[in-house]
Amino acid sequence: MSVNNSGNETVVGKKNFIHQIIEEEINEGKNEGRVHTRFPPEPNGYLHIGHAKSICLNFGTAQKFNGKANLRFDDTNPSKEETEYVESIKKDVSWLGFSWGGTEFYASDYFDNLFEFAVKLIKEGKAYVDDQNAETISSQKGTPTRPGFESPHRSRTPEENLDLFLRMKAGEFNEGERVLRAKIDMASPNMHMRDPIIYRIMKAHHHRTGDKWCIYPMYDFAHGQSDYWEGITHSICTLEFEVHRPLYDWFIEQLMDGEYRPRQIEFARLNLTYTVMSKRKLLELVKDNYVNGWDDPRMPTISGLRRRGYTPESIRNFADKIGVTKVDGMIDVALLEHSVREDLNKRAQRVMGVLNPLKVVITNYPEDQVEMMSALNNPEDPEAGRRDVPFTRELYIERDDFMEDPPRKFFRMAPGREVRLRYAYYVTCDEVVKDENGEIIELHCSYDPETKGGKSADGRKVKATMHWVSASENVKAEIRLYDRLFNDEEPDGHKDVDFKDFLNPDSLKVLSNCYIEPFVKDAKALDSFQFERLGYFNLDPDTTPEKLVFNRTAPLRDNWSKQKGK
Ligand code: ATP
Ligand code: MG
Repeated sequence: MSVNNSGNETVVGKKNFIHQIIEEEINEGKNEGRVHTRFPPEPNGYLHIGHAKSICLNFGTAQKFNGKANLRFDDTNPSKEETEYVESIKKDVSWLGFSWGGTEFYASDYFDNLFEFAVKLIKEGKAYVDDQNAETISSQKGTPTRPGFESPHRSRTPEENLDLFLRMKAGEFNEGERVLRAKIDMASPNMHMRDPIIYRIMKAHHHRTGDKWCIYPMYDFAHGQSDYWEGITHSICTLEFEVHRPLYDWFIEQLMDGEYRPRQIEFARLNLTYTVMSKRKLLELVKDNYVNGWDDPRMPTISGLRRRGYTPESIRNFADKIGVTKVDGMIDVALLEHSVREDLNKRAQRVMGVLNPLKVVITNYPEDQVEMMSALNNPEDPEAGRRDVPFTRELYIERDDFMEDPPRKFFRMAPGREVRLRYAYYVTCDEVVKDENGEIIELHCSYDPETKGGKSADGRKVKATMHWVSASENVKAEIRLYDRLFNDEEPDGHKDVDFKDFLNPDSLKVLSNCYIEPFVKDAKALDSFQFERLGYFNLDPDTTPEKLVFNRTAPLRDNWSKQKGK
């Protein structure tokens, strides 16, 4: 089966090209058949759905080949990193259903080894201390077609370099005064090979090593080496690292003492329509209060999706569906929404809830009577059973389900018309009660006692079945309706226009006067329900004993299936 997404063809169920590579290697006996991957987040923000793709790929690959996957924090930049992010990342990875064997790794675990390795490179004449600042160094880099200039400090002796490097480490110089560079090739066609900076001075407190270091390795100098020391066989990363691969391999070559070397394989990152995915931009939305925190249900973060009512299964299924390719593309966010609906449809408890209530009085129904109506918990799950829903003389229905002067195609409640109240009775609207402004405030109806359970004895048919909630036996709730956070398909794809200019002013709508059947009163935070005819909702952690708060995860209508004619 194949699905389309904005111009790109993603083939569902197709073999993942990385898995194909690994299968071939296993057949050749490479690494004795061992498969070991890692997920290497930088703890400088919360994880988003793009990271989820990478997590599913790395941990999923390890599972498929009976291998291992490490969680490794790439904490080489102490100025942007916080332990709050470390904790949130651990929580999100395990929530997605993956484990990393109990201990997580940190690039900072290797600061001593990396330092030793830098010293080795210096002694072998493969690294030197440059006194120029980063700007000057970058101005000497050249272009892809023109070689760069060699630094005047490039020919320092190993002794001189070692002395300077140790003094850098001892804190003798200020930030920016010295860097350590690998001595590779200023004329390489690959810009990353033109004597890249591998150590910089940063007088910053590190979340794990404290004030032990004032020099820190660059990401490129830490990443491959950490892979090597952990015995990683496949270092799976996004396409932008393809050009870093020769450097990755160069460092490993200087380090290798046997046959083993990790292999870097690149894949296309996930981009979603109507979504920004850069951590820097997500941080800006949080810091400047455009949203209510990292776990705001409108955010594409894993914590936001969780709070919104997404399940780990729905995210893993989504990752499977989009597949793994080498071509950058844009996935329709409707496919993500489709995945959560598909999963919740199978498992969500059904209840009735009214978001925009209109009172109905059943005038011929006894005043204090409460009748229990038997309702199906989930028609998709034969094991789910039934529950009782209280029916009383006064009820609420959805305001939209009534029209005083209905057009031809409107089949729901209207004056003189008989409709079915789901699981209850047939009722007919006899009278419309209005206030002094002409606003409808109440409907007076009569019921047919012979239609209990919503079935008529004489076989007469009605055109509509409506949901309802008892006006006396219910739970009051606040309901938060979400729309897309941005009203442009590619909010950060416009030159000269800030992505925030595309924020959707109607992305959150709060309804504070909603009624749900009593069943939900014992729900726990994040429990999901289908409100019949309305969509999927989950209980928000903001709920208090006085006020239940629900998020709408997704409406019932599925744009994806509709668009794709499925
Ligand atoms: P951002 O661009 O959002 O700041 P990042 O790449 O800097 O993300 P890292 O913490 O370094 O964030 O990412 C950890 C891992 O997740 C990396 O291996 C990276 O390739 C992968 N990753 C990040 N964004 C995506 C994405 N949109 N799709 C797939 N994988 C991603
Ligand atoms: Mg990164």
